[in-house]
Amino acid sequence: MSTLLQKPIEYLKGVGPQRGDMLKKELQIFTCGDLLSHYPYRYIDRSRIYKIEEIQNDEAYIQVKGIIRNIQEVGQQRGKRLTAILSDDTGNIELVWFQGAQWVKKALKPNAEYLVFCKPSYFNNRLNLVHPELELVAEERGEVIKGLQPMYPSTEKLKVKGLDSKGILKLTATLLQELNADEVQEFLPAYVFDKYKFIGRYETLKNIHFPENEIILQKAKGRLKFEELFLIQLKLLAQKLRRKAVVKGFIFSKANDNNLRQLYKKLIAQNFILTKDQLSVLEEIRNDVSFGKQMNRLVQGDVGSGKTIVALLAMLMGVDNSFQACLMAPTEILAQQHFETISAYLEGLPVKVQLLTGSVKGAARKKILENILIGETQILIGTHALIEETVQFKNIGLVIIDEQHRFGVEQRSKLWEKNETPPHILVMTATPIPRTLAMTLYGDLDVSAIKTMPPGRMPIATAWMTDAQRLRIFQLMKDEIAKGRQVYVVYPLIEESEKMDYKDLMDGYESISRAFPIPQYQVSVVHGRMKAADKDFEMNRFAKGETHIMVATTVIEVGVNVPNASMMVIESAERFGLSQLHQLRGRVGRGIHQSYCILVTGNKLSADGKKRMQTMVHTNDGFEIAEVDMQLRGPGDMQGTSQSGHLNLRIADITKDQKILQEARNTAEEILDKDAQLQLPDNFRLRQHISNLKSEMKKWSRIS
Ligand code: ADP
Ligand code: MG
Repeated sequence: MSTLLQKPIEYLKGVGPQRGDMLKKELQIFTCGDLLSHYPYRYIDRSRIYKIEEIQNDEAYIQVKGIIRNIQEVGQQRGKRLTAILSDDTGNIELVWFQGAQWVKKALKPNAEYLVFCKPSYFNNRLNLVHPELELVAEERGEVIKGLQPMYPSTEKLKVKGLDSKGILKLTATLLQELNADEVQEFLPAYVFDKYKFIGRYETLKNIHFPENEIILQKAKGRLKFEELFLIQLKLLAQKLRRKAVVKGFIFSKANDNNLRQLYKKLIAQNFILTKDQLSVLEEIRNDVSFGKQMNRLVQGDVGSGKTIVALLAMLMGVDNSFQACLMAPTEILAQQHFETISAYLEGLPVKVQLLTGSVKGAARKKILENILIGETQILIGTHALIEETVQFKNIGLVIIDEQHRFGVEQRSKLWEKNETPPHILVMTATPIPRTLAMTLYGDLDVSAIKTMPPGRMPIATAWMTDAQRLRIFQLMKDEIAKGRQVYVVYPLIEESEKMDYKDLMDGYESISRAFPIPQYQVSVVHGRMKAADKDFEMNRFAKGETHIMVATTVIEVGVNVPNASMMVIESAERFGLSQLHQLRGRVGRGIHQSYCILVTGNKLSADGKKRMQTMVHTNDGFEIAEVDMQLRGPGDMQGTSQSGHLNLRIADITKDQKILQEARNTAEEILDKDAQLQLPDNFRLRQHISNLKSEMKKWSRIS
């Protein structure tokens, strides 16, 4: 069956071979159907034009009309940019381009009237329009769509070929004119369609491109978002079902919990009471390992929520059943720390724990490897070198990965190859991700959360200050040091601006050294340009309490535990993402002392920047912070998510569409519960659609 939608794109009127090639290369639009699912990313409300004097903040997209003049390149090196002035009868505003200056400069017509569309932003302490969308008013006459005009994603190369947003709009209009309603097939099962009162697919597609009105646009969007999320959830859940049906797992029976019980007793004797969430996660793990299925569980819990003891108790479930267990940390320092902590917990119990890191060499290493092979070692702790090297276990039953985001999916799956029956897998992360994101990223994992903190933990008091309050900040640092505490001062280090950042750090270090002179004060500095040995040396000095202040770039983000450090000053805090700020802050508040975090920023901040600072001041809850972070940044930029193809969504936004995601997830679950193979007549269309998608994917991946 060949329909219009399957027709190669070059055959659409107005495309042709050359533009067709460009569309394929630049936007992966191969067929007319692909063009139809190249959705607008925004609609410009043509009915409202702002006056320049009405532009008061950076909160919303606006449309202004005015004359462009004073087009010029300014600034040096990193600050190099193109600027122009836009004026109407109420005032002026600056337009700014950081990229493509040459191209824009050539294209701009001085003293011509433009329609400008943009979200204002703060730059150099003023409101600007950065990388605005522009249209010459003269060219628009008579052609402007009234009401909602779709804006399409395009690329510089396509723009040169006349396929800017406007060009794509025209092609889409042509396509929709040629398209018959019956060529657009419904694939949602009828009962789903009815339940959510969706509008038909043809009507949906027509209105996503050229909305008749706002209400029907919302309906079209809602339906397409549901479709998209539903198909992903269906796939993830089907994978999980398949894995659970096929992959066997070791059984850690309950009967012989000797060591586990001993440790529980010891903890109780020490008045160490597991929190409610620690207990419920352990219960979930216990359940996972009891039925002969492989466990694949993610445990999320903020820094300090007590994941280590949970890991240890889980490992003992394995050890008590004569299996080996291993715990992997992202760095040697952390592995070392885990080893020390766990050895201390296990004192007096007959459990053999071993540490294996890259720095163990020669005969010592050989001996350890041998012990692992013969099963003498029951718990092995190390870095990810454990899976990259040829470490052979006698019978590994459980693998725990701490700080998951350092381990890719591939590395995880390597573990499975070590055994015929794969070990149980427990992934632990201190970077909580919102539930909805977890559903999509780890849809094939089971997810647990530790939200309650161990008793007696004092929340870190956080303040937001500006550069101008520097003297006050120095005084606060001195007060802490006078109490016998230590202080971190952290500078951002972003790859693209490494040189400048490095300079900021060294300037900061100098001014701190002046304000905190020797011999009264000792200041350490650690940054990425130092040799590893020097870094370790400085870190150790600080850890041992020999220096009062640690000036560092974000290299300490995942670093040592210095319980005596009770204050963290974060410089240029506006340049950090929320989750990163939260993680940095987690470096303090690890001891018995009240701890403080000071966020230092410039005077003028973007709305997002303000929200980030306010959120940090207002809460210590990593889950809440992750939620806000995702709202601000969108899920694609969140830590650890970049490898996930599931986040390249066309229309849904996991941040904003949580309700739809939940509905899609529930619907997928219901369907698979009743009909795991999609063989019921009700699900026939759906099955057909999925198999079409699969063969399309194969076809294109072979071509490109
Ligand atoms: P994280 O989740 O960051 O790995 P840790 O496991 O390192 O946290 O625990 C942080 C600190 O809290 C440790 O000193 C640990 O001994 C302590 N801790 C963990 N659970 C409890 C609890 N239930 N009661 C008291 N202290 C606890
Ligand atoms: Mg930990």
